[in-house]
Amino acid sequence: MSELGGTELTPKTYQDQHPVWCPGCGDFGVLDAMAKAFSQLKLHPKDIVLVSGIGCSGRTPGFMKCYGFHVVHGRVLPVSMGVKLAQPALTVVGVGGDGDAFAIGGGHIPHAARRNISVTYLVMDNSIYGLTKGQFSPTSPMGLEAGSTPYGSVEAPLNPLAMTIAYGATFVARGYSGKPKELTDLIVRALTHKGFAFLNVISPCITYYNTYKTIPQQIAPVPATHDASSQIAAFTLAQDTSRMYLGVFYETTQPTYEERLHANVAKAAAAGVPRLDEIMASFV
Ligand code: SF4
Repeated sequence: MSELGGTELTPKTYQDQHPVWCPGCGDFGVLDAMAKAFSQLKLHPKDIVLVSGIGCSGRTPGFMKCYGFHVVHGRVLPVSMGVKLAQPALTVVGVGGDGDAFAIGGGHIPHAARRNISVTYLVMDNSIYGLTKGQFSPTSPMGLEAGSTPYGSVEAPLNPLAMTIAYGATFVARGYSGKPKELTDLIVRALTHKGFAFLNVISPCITYYNTYKTIPQQIAPVPATHDASSQIAAFTLAQDTSRMYLGVFYETTQPTYEERLHANVAKAAAAGVPRLDEIMASFV
């Protein structure tokens, strides 16, 4: 990526191959908004790492010019956390779909949230498994008739916003791929947040669960009166499923995992404890 040195960082800077998603897939809007957010923040591609799971949205790193890591199903967050700890100066963004995030990888979200590690987790939520041709997912509405549920899903959908607020995430927001300006702003805010930032993005699957006609009637901006610094207010708003609110539900500042860890490393060094690389060097 050294050939980019000195060039202006426009959204085109981050575009690599043309995505192979179905024409009209919501993920195109998310990709564009990410590129605009990177450009606004003047992030050089060499300083960005996209970590993705399995699914249509898991292909995202292949379509962007930056470092990418396409990991095994559901393991976006462990790998993202490892990258951030090894290279704290990098901007680390985990991306994936609702199946990868909330089913196969669901067990990793509480731990990333409670640790408050500086990783942005952007979930492209279409409430369906698209890559495997349309099975119901953890965020599918009850009654959804899909390939695996021909008589309708009998499961209640998971509420990603209420879940991550309850787990202690310090930034929780929702965007929509059909609102590119607002989505870009949300991605900028998530990327500049100190600590774990969770951004759920409604990103319709035009092929297996086309919600483009219904979502415009359901969405509304987070009310201007909402107090995003209050965890109770954020949880209450997330529980209100009468509307699909877009915006920041919760944002607070707390020490990050890397800050606490590095403080401990400094304490150990002051106490004369050798570092692992020093121990290893003693065997050479
Ligand atoms: Fe997008 Fe659905 Fe096509 Fe996958 S199957 S690329 S989610 S429209």
